[in-house]
Amino acid sequence: MAAIIDGKTVSLQIKEELKQKAADLRTQGTAVTLAVIQVGDNPASCVYVRNKKKGCEYIGIGSLSYELPEETTQDELLSLIRELNGRGDVNGILVQLPLPAHIDEDTVIKAIDPQKDVDGFHPQSVGALCIGQPGFVSCTPAGIIQLLKRSGISIEGKECVVLGRSNIVGKPMSLLLLRENATVTIAHSRTKNLKEVTSRADILIVAIGKPKMITREYVKEGAVVIDVGINRDENNKLCGDVDFEDVEPICSAITPVPGGVGPMTIAMLLNNCIESVRLQS
Ligand code: NDP
Repeated sequence: MAAIIDGKTVSLQIKEELKQKAADLRTQGTAVTLAVIQVGDNPASCVYVRNKKKGCEYIGIGSLSYELPEETTQDELLSLIRELNGRGDVNGILVQLPLPAHIDEDTVIKAIDPQKDVDGFHPQSVGALCIGQPGFVSCTPAGIIQLLKRSGISIEGKECVVLGRSNIVGKPMSLLLLRENATVTIAHSRTKNLKEVTSRADILIVAIGKPKMITREYVKEGAVVIDVGINRDENNKLCGDVDFEDVEPICSAITPVPGGVGPMTIAMLLNNCIESVRLQS
């Protein structure tokens, strides 16, 4: 039977540490504030934004909330970002994605001051990660590294396969694993002999957005399996990209969905907010 990697417990541990750091900063007279911008009322975004604000409250940092109507123009959004970039009392700026179709996400991401880019999506943040310089790291992959380390799973020298190459999960995940001295393979929808490639992994990280696609034929016996996917199955129940029931009996450790990677993302966002103080000093 596999060990279940418990993201809820680990994220709570991190949030308790951040609570202490936020309190220490307050004693030194430093307030930390995150500005969260949401355009439109996508129901999933509303839940994420609410949880992010709750997270700020929990660790004792401030949050400013901008809930803009769906018809907000790109120029209006850019002008708000510029205003927040210039405000000394705002440490982090987060624009909840996805944005309505009439707004170009890349332009918006690039408008955020890289020193306030707590999501780690700005090209400068990604470039810094690539060449090993200080900067914000995308929250979900950063959370996975913490999850592995705090669960006592060593990464160095391991054969790691990252399935998925998105800018927010797959690519930064691969760079972080490389930074931890893993041997990294990135697989995607054009990869040939996918099962053969994923079966090489000591640590398999799956981020494809395909409900329960990864069955035991894709997994080496004894591997560690990290499931990033958040999907709904045919009964509208939350599920990952990995078929948990099928894979769990043959792997050594696995993250559940929900309760695995998900809770880590917000913990790492809060971590980036606290880190912003150091990066901005
Ligand atoms: P994207 O859709 O941006 O990327 C999906 C990636 O998976 C692409 O690189 C794509 O390949 C690859 N892929 C798709 N289908 C297959 C396939 N059949 N075989 C092999 N590769 C495939 O997704 P994201 O990275 O944004 O998200 C992935 C999942 O993670 C989603 O379920 C999302 O909801 C979840 N997620 C969870 C988070 C959390 O906090 N837990 C945070 C972010 C995302 P190609 O490039 O060739 O098209």
